[in-house]
Amino acid sequence: MTAPRSIGISLPSLGEEEWQALREPLESGWLTQGPKVAAFEKAFAERHRVPHALATTSCTTGLHLVLAAMGIGPGDEVIVPAFTWVATANVVVYCGATPVFVDVDPATFNLDPAQLAARVTERTRAIIAVHLFGRCADMDAIAAAAPGIPVIEDAACAAGAAYKGRPAGTLGLAASFSFHPRKSVTTGEGGMVTTADAALAETCNMLRNHGASVSEEQRHRGPRPYLLPEFNLLGFNYRMTDLQGAVGLVQLGKLDRFIKERAEAAAFYAEALAGLPWLRTPEVPEGCEHAWQAYVCFVDEATAPMPRNDIMEWLQARGIATRPGTHAVHMLGYYRDRFGLAPDDFPGARDCDRHSMAIPLHNRMSMADYAYVAEALHTLG
Ligand SMILES: *Cc1c(COP(=O)(O)O)cnc(C)c1O
Repeated sequence: MTAPRSIGISLPSLGEEEWQALREPLESGWLTQGPKVAAFEKAFAERHRVPHALATTSCTTGLHLVLAAMGIGPGDEVIVPAFTWVATANVVVYCGATPVFVDVDPATFNLDPAQLAARVTERTRAIIAVHLFGRCADMDAIAAAAPGIPVIEDAACAAGAAYKGRPAGTLGLAASFSFHPRKSVTTGEGGMVTTADAALAETCNMLRNHGASVSEEQRHRGPRPYLLPEFNLLGFNYRMTDLQGAVGLVQLGKLDRFIKERAEAAAFYAEALAGLPWLRTPEVPEGCEHAWQAYVCFVDEATAPMPRNDIMEWLQARGIATRPGTHAVHMLGYYRDRFGLAPDDFPGARDCDRHSMAIPLHNRMSMADYAYVAEALHTLG
């Protein structure tokens, strides 16, 4: 069968400005974390109204930095939602701590606050709340269900999102964003830690640079060339390059337009697909500014014309890419085997794993593309 269109699930949106932005670091020879990263951090902090922003190599390494800076280690427990990208749980294991899963609400794809309190123990050191697909977790309900326990935002999908008027990145002790090409703004790989806690920011700053107490840039530009940093912490190399910083600064300038376009597309889908009883489209609750990193629906197999996987194949044959929203981490081999977990332990996450379906939404789609996707879903239903 020939597909009249070929619509990717997600495509980064980069142009001439990003090309031009690479010139300066390439010509100056300052390639690792330097002035471009500093400018990107400053702009990111301003956009998200947060005092400190620190660029990293990914959201994953950013989350690892935060947990390491909090001193989380063996014997500690960190609560994570069971339906999320695997990295949310992996960073807990990197620290030698134990990930404790909480089920998600299939209506929101986010951690279900009603199930949180039962998972808290005297060993719980933190909760990682994920703003999945760009919709903020219900942070007030999470804080109320687990008073006094620090909440870290996995804001991988949530650049530009807000919750009750407060930006993602300011909703917990610290947050980590992603600039992977699947997210709305990208630096290839990359991440950003945000926090209002100056001491935590300073520790993250040292830990991302091998534990050094003086940055490479300070040393390079400083008046005392004999000065070597102190290394009082076991650090990592999680520094972003200035090439990425330069691209990130340009991308960040486009964030609000990207979100606006995505929100328009989401509104189109919501209306165009409202007549399909078997397809639940994502809702936007009062007070939520959705960042629309992805448009993830839920297939009700009791009323759907065919099972989800067959629907995905049917769409693929018509040039429309789809994906499961993400995975149930407790069903992945490593977690299943190491922690002896079964699919039914977290039925919400299990159902999201089996029945979620992301349909194409990105900044290089035309209105005709969106109409084509909606039309195909109607033909099927
Ligand atoms: C993409 C993603 C990550 C990982 O981000 P990287 O920058 O690739 O490390 C973590 N958590 C969630 C929820 C994600 O969607």
